Amino acid sequence: MFLTITTSGSTERPATDLGFLLHKHPDKAQVFSTSHGTAYVFYPEASAERCTAALLLEVDPVALVRRGKGRGRGGAPDSALAQYVNDRPYAASSLFAVALGAVFSSALKGQCTARPELAERALPLRIEVPAVPASGGAALVGRLFEPLGWTVTAEPVPLDERFPEWGESRYVRLVLEGELRLADALRQLYVLLPVLDDSKHYWVAPDEVDKLLRSGEGWLHSHPEQQLITSRYLARRWSLTRQAMERLELARLAEADDAEAEELDNAVDEEADTAEKPVPLAVRRREAILDVLRSSGAARVLDLGCGQGQLVGALLKEAQFTGIVGVDVSMRALNEAARRLGVERMSERQSARVRLLQGSLAYTDKRLKGYDAAVLSEVIEHLDLPRLPALEYAVFGAARPTTVVVTTPNVEYNVRWDTLPAGHVRHADHRFEWTRAEFRSWAERVAARHGYAVEFRPVGPDDPEVGPPTQLALFTAADTTATATPPTPSDTTPSDTTAKEAAA
Ligand code: SAH
Repeated sequence: MFLTITTSGSTERPATDLGFLLHKHPDKAQVFSTSHGTAYVFYPEASAERCTAALLLEVDPVALVRRGKGRGRGGAPDSALAQYVNDRPYAASSLFAVALGAVFSSALKGQCTARPELAERALPLRIEVPAVPASGGAALVGRLFEPLGWTVTAEPVPLDERFPEWGESRYVRLVLEGELRLADALRQLYVLLPVLDDSKHYWVAPDEVDKLLRSGEGWLHSHPEQQLITSRYLARRWSLTRQAMERLELARLAEADDAEAEELDNAVDEEADTAEKPVPLAVRRREAILDVLRSSGAARVLDLGCGQGQLVGALLKEAQFTGIVGVDVSMRALNEAARRLGVERMSERQSARVRLLQGSLAYTDKRLKGYDAAVLSEVIEHLDLPRLPALEYAVFGAARPTTVVVTTPNVEYNVRWDTLPAGHVRHADHRFEWTRAEFRSWAERVAARHGYAVEFRPVGPDDPEVGPPTQLALFTAADTTATATPPTPSDTTPSDTTAKEAAA
């Protein structure tokens, strides 16, 4: 098993800094004894321009068998000979990941006491592994590494070069190229090599969940293949996988909180506002929502997915709105909202007008019944598409306010953001972004199913070609007495909950 890490540099930033990061001097070859064999670290090249570190693991097949780990794929007890003759010594796999973790443990943690600033820096990296067992083939290799910013080359290795008609083996030659922090690159390999191999060679104990989350910090919670990665890494042990997925979901929400108002929303559209002072999109959206609510005559309003409470604050300033409830799944967002709104210092009259509730919109919630209007501002795109029908039912079916305002990004407009690379969504946490046609067809379907009329409004400059940056749908209940209807049994599904399931 063999892996090389190459970086390039210059006289000011010599490539040999790699030695500091790996805590291994480029002039020395070093030998480490690991639990499954012997690991060697050496540098085939080391100049200011280019530096390559190599990790070679020589697995001892006899030791493997003694430790009871020399079984074939899937852990099935193979024939006596297969215990000794298998691909373990040659292919990068979970054993290799273990060695990587042991030999480069400080580098994996991003520690570099001699040069701490180095560890923070993204480096041009080229990582090559000549033989990676890839269950799922080259296509899966791409799906695992590309979302992390790597340019991936995964060439299937033929079973036998002399006999091309025999076809391909389950191995690929893997080359990753990209600009990443070394610690991130190593932690990704540490997790993804065994995931590709898909056969763990040691007992998967509960502390593997901690290991996975530690190594996955900063990248796994937003990875589109998170479920596959988690389940394979934990050897498909469902209870562990679920535990890991739940903890990742919390990490994701915490990060979404940190990203204050969405960055692009605060960017100003200079072309649109050359004469006046430019207005951030987030402010325009709030104004558009307030306009709709004012003319709807609503007095009691729900802000669903209220985040840090900016809209709640704006609603409080207008006497028309006598009852304002902010709901969010994230306790952190709600705490921040309470702090910003100054809930503790409010007069009694003012504080009687506002409430902040924790709850998930994917569940029906009795507390949300009987309101005149509900707002879902930039929220639906944060839910996985398969969970959206649950939100639709909870809001339009169960809570059933007279007016519902939904805003979401118009993905067609993304080409107009100079700062947004092609094909990217506006925020790392967005599960989807829709075209105008997609949003329309969703909204019309929801309206028809739940007895609402719907109309659409642009928010922000309405580009003749790609439309506005934000799209708004205004739903009005066809039967306006619906809010007064007492709860019926069908409003309470078995999944009914007072919604305390998050951020515990
Ligand atoms: N409405 C605000 C915040 C949008 S960010 C605005 O327009 O600026 C999306 C918010 O939805 C986040 O605060 C997130 O915590 C919340 N959210 C995501 N999924 C949710 C769910 N299932 N239930 C309730 N809130 C959710």
